[in-house]
Amino acid sequence: MRLRNITGSREIIGESRFVVQEPKAQKGKWRERFGNEAPIYIEIGMGKGKFLHTLAGQNPDINYVGIEKYSSVLLRAIQKSEEEELSNLLFIRMDAEELTEVFGQGEVDRIYLNFSDPWPKDRHAKRRLPSEQFLNRYDVILKRGGRIEFKTDNRALFDFAVEELQKTGFRAEKITYDLHGDKEMREGNVMTEYEEKFSAAGNPIYKYIVCREGE
Ligand code: SAM
Repeated sequence: MRLRNITGSREIIGESRFVVQEPKAQKGKWRERFGNEAPIYIEIGMGKGKFLHTLAGQNPDINYVGIEKYSSVLLRAIQKSEEEELSNLLFIRMDAEELTEVFGQGEVDRIYLNFSDPWPKDRHAKRRLPSEQFLNRYDVILKRGGRIEFKTDNRALFDFAVEELQKTGFRAEKITYDLHGDKEMREGNVMTEYEEKFSAAGNPIYKYIVCREGE
């Protein structure tokens, strides 16, 4: 099936075998769903899914779940999976505010946040995916020793994200203000759609890797 336009996108998503239709019913049972005991890595706000599709192809021994709020971009991720099917990659259409209803305590091994929407108005700060409010949700679903990896080209959002860590039990393990110029941190870096666009425009990319204090 080719998805050339987005007419009927809800129907296509509702029928796709790559999309978990009732994600809340999977809570605590994600490894059963994948049929193995491999770690589970999720990307929140995955957009068209290039990053996760590439990682899932490179790492067949890891299970990946891509979370996206909007049907129009999720459709593109489904299309990619139809062109090249990967048994270790699934998608959910949902708002990340519901994360703790979808994943059990400690069920997730790693969380990726890539080029999250900046929500520049102060009153919308709690909607930012690296905010204290979201970090507290990640704290529930992330296993002990699990990591969050966040990258963006937006300096204000990055500074906010680093400050928010102080309000939580998460601490920066690694941090860079020039990912592509950082020999250690750029190793194995998989570019996202936004990363390709913004780094081609000359913007530096900021990244942190965080874990819980003492881990
Ligand atoms: N990660 C991709 C990349 O780096 O190319 C896409 C980045 S795009 C700027 C941010 C994406 O996050 C959008 O597709 C948006 O719909 C999604 N998003 C924002 N807030 C979300 C939320 N609360 N739950 C799920 N998806 C969200």
